[in-house]
Amino acid sequence: TKHFPVRRRPRDLLTRTRRAVRAVDDVGLVLRRGQVTAMVGESGSGKSTVARLLAQLVRQTSGRISLHGDEVRTRGGRAFRAYCRRVQLVFQDPFASLNPVHTVRYHLTRALRIHHRDRDVTAALHDLLTRVQLTPPEQFLAKYPHELSGGQRQRVAIARALAAGPEALLADEPVSMLDVSIRLGVLNLLRDLRDRLDLAILYITHDIASARYFADDVLVMYAGQVVEGGDGEAVTQRAAHPYTRLLIASAPDPDRIAGEADEDTAESGGEPPSLIDPPAGCRFHPRCPHAMARCRTEAPPRLSVDGNGSGHWAACWLYDAPTVAEAAT
Ligand code: SF4
Ligand code: MG
Repeated sequence: TKHFPVRRRPRDLLTRTRRAVRAVDDVGLVLRRGQVTAMVGESGSGKSTVARLLAQLVRQTSGRISLHGDEVRTRGGRAFRAYCRRVQLVFQDPFASLNPVHTVRYHLTRALRIHHRDRDVTAALHDLLTRVQLTPPEQFLAKYPHELSGGQRQRVAIARALAAGPEALLADEPVSMLDVSIRLGVLNLLRDLRDRLDLAILYITHDIASARYFADDVLVMYAGQVVEGGDGEAVTQRAAHPYTRLLIASAPDPDRIAGEADEDTAESGGEPPSLIDPPAGCRFHPRCPHAMARCRTEAPPRLSVDGNGSGHWAACWLYDAPTVAEAAT
């Protein structure tokens, strides 16, 4: 959980209210080596904050983060540095994350020196650039960020993350700033790294179609909470939560026939809620075409969607067993 305090208004001082943006509320997830987990949601749903929490760029308001069962408790110190080396973040905009006055060689050498003081740098540089398919490496080492294409820059940013020797990569919208034509190449590279280096990858995106293509597991975020999760194919092909269905229906999909309206989306326009004062009960209820009385007051827990233990769940009262039984009678 991460809440960001916001400035008090004059009337908050009178009523002594402390307000906060509830950016991430009780989100639970497990990343596994050799797996891509996609976290899908609209902008402002809290996805980037989850990545920043996992990278410990910001500290949680409450809750635990652990690596192999060891909780990250303190910032600073050896254990914390080891954690930061093993969990690396790749940002959305490679142009902003690389320093324009430094070469590729400088960026990568610096990352190698921080994390592995004793490694043979020349060999390691070749290795890194080959890993991200920037070959021949000599051709790229002397280049500055502006001399590279967007896709090449993102590959350098990925190589820099790999320099630390991570077990997990947190990729926050890694292709959304890139031309459509080169996105697939970068996603395929990440997939290749997942397999070769047995990496755990958190792939953060607003594009559920790319999650379908790329992820083993998918989590769907809405208004600071995870509302559905499970195997990537189950979540994207048999979406259970009304919000996930809305996301899928509003994603541009060449296979869909134009003008064919989905009954779930017909009346669920509207905007995501304010996270300073989110709706009570299910946060999606103001937009949900299936909202029931209890949805307005009781927050739904994670409920199994198919009842066969597949691990596909949704935080939605539609999957509460008594509700289903009542509906049947
Ligand atoms: Fe809709 Fe209720 Fe399910 Fe929320 S819990 S998504 S309001 S049906
Ligand atoms: Mg973001």
